[in-house]
Amino acid sequence: MRIAIVGAGPTGFFLAKSLLDQGAQDWRIDIFEKTPFPFGLVRFGVAPDHPKIKSVTKGFSKVLADSRCHFWGGVKVAERDHGGDFSVESLLRHYHSVALTVGSQDDRKLGIPQEDSKNSFSATRFVGWYNAHPEDLSLNPNLKVERAAVVGAGNVAIDILRLLISLPQRLAPTDISDQALEQLRTSTIKEVDVLVRRGPWDVAFTNPEVKELLDFEDVRFTFDPPLGEFAETPPYADRRATNNMDVFRELEQRTVASPRATVHFRFLVSPRKLEADSEGSVQAVDLGHNTLAVHDEGSKLSDSGRTTRLPSQLFIRSVGYLGRPLDGVSYCDRRGVIPADSEGRVLDEDERAVPGLYVSGWVRRGPSGVIGTNKKDANEVAQAILDDGSIRSVGSDAQFEEWLAASIHQKAISKSDWEHIDAREIALGQANGRPRRKFLSVTEVAQELSARATEVLGR
Ligand code: NAP
Repeated sequence: MRIAIVGAGPTGFFLAKSLLDQGAQDWRIDIFEKTPFPFGLVRFGVAPDHPKIKSVTKGFSKVLADSRCHFWGGVKVAERDHGGDFSVESLLRHYHSVALTVGSQDDRKLGIPQEDSKNSFSATRFVGWYNAHPEDLSLNPNLKVERAAVVGAGNVAIDILRLLISLPQRLAPTDISDQALEQLRTSTIKEVDVLVRRGPWDVAFTNPEVKELLDFEDVRFTFDPPLGEFAETPPYADRRATNNMDVFRELEQRTVASPRATVHFRFLVSPRKLEADSEGSVQAVDLGHNTLAVHDEGSKLSDSGRTTRLPSQLFIRSVGYLGRPLDGVSYCDRRGVIPADSEGRVLDEDERAVPGLYVSGWVRRGPSGVIGTNKKDANEVAQAILDDGSIRSVGSDAQFEEWLAASIHQKAISKSDWEHIDAREIALGQANGRPRRKFLSVTEVAQELSARATEVLGR
């Protein structure tokens, strides 16, 4: 049985592992990835100062080491309106099962005037920039500014906040991109506003991430409105919300003699418009102030009609991710996911399961949960693939090899290429006390591989 997995992120690897654990010795699994590098969100999403979360890749490398598993990086499945190197339809011709684990690659917009001003970015791109995603190398944010705003109260927003208030020496021993580290060294940001549309009881941050803020002892934290105005515990507050509130209160009460930077958590505000200067660079954000109605099951916000203006020369919206539609595969624009049945079989426009096509991870259920959440999801989909078996007839082995040679081999980064790049990144990083020094671009990878080829030929 031949299985294609599109997307080499955590879900793709959890799925491959589950299939390899349960599958026969003559199975073949090919993992396709559009960047030259495996591990998706672990490489390009997890914050550089969270190395423990990245240790999950040790298990993924074991999956790759299985001789039944193949990796093809730097080849892209065709996206709607963006094209690609091969289509989902061509995979279905050559593989008994095709699983789409492409994650949520795009960002939600706020839909406000001047949102695309210079130095206004989505979290997706900003995180990609500091994590050396090849598509985000050119972002070049201007950090030589006084004040930045981050919109949203999820873990991605808090990752970005930590990065903006970190001293370079805190980030230097991490695998942050070289160019991001250099730019952060000359950052002049003194104030960061975290703009939250609801109240402190409603934030999506998880406890460890909020607690980490206590480590920034030379940074002052303010809360507007003050936390005293949210003294009453709402009926829906769970343990996470209560713990977060305890830390917020500790941060609010803390005295910092001469703060290096100040973080303002501003609740009950929604950006309404960005103001830009004559060169188009963001200078301020117009905020609408909200009121909150507390119900048993949650809070509901409404517009109070009051507006204020806040200076901001760097604006980052972190309000959730969206999937990207693939060519020839149905897609729910509203939810940003590929529609599927309860076991992960992709549904067509008429809500019928497409034989042999599966979806798992964020592009199945939306961008929620931690990395491990995708394991359960992947295991469910692996079960559906096993239950369905190789019911479809596909091209012969010879036709498959011919397709692979013509469409993939020539362009792709193979498993052994990646093993070489991985070892080089680790060696280059360790020479400078870092876990790895990430290769930044496709060109850099190509140069390294061609240097290796020359060296091998010269031996
Ligand atoms: P998230 O947790 O869903 O948070 C999104 C935030 O954006 C919420 O605070 C939401 O507020 C706000 N928001 C949405 N639309 C908005 C709008 N139009 N205006 C203002 N605010 C808006 O998403 P995320 O931070 O992107 O994280 C994605 C997933 O990755 C989450 O499950 C997260 O836990 C996970 N993650 C985990 C880690 C970690 O474990 N360390 C790190 C990063 C990410 P409302 O609540 O009011 O809708």
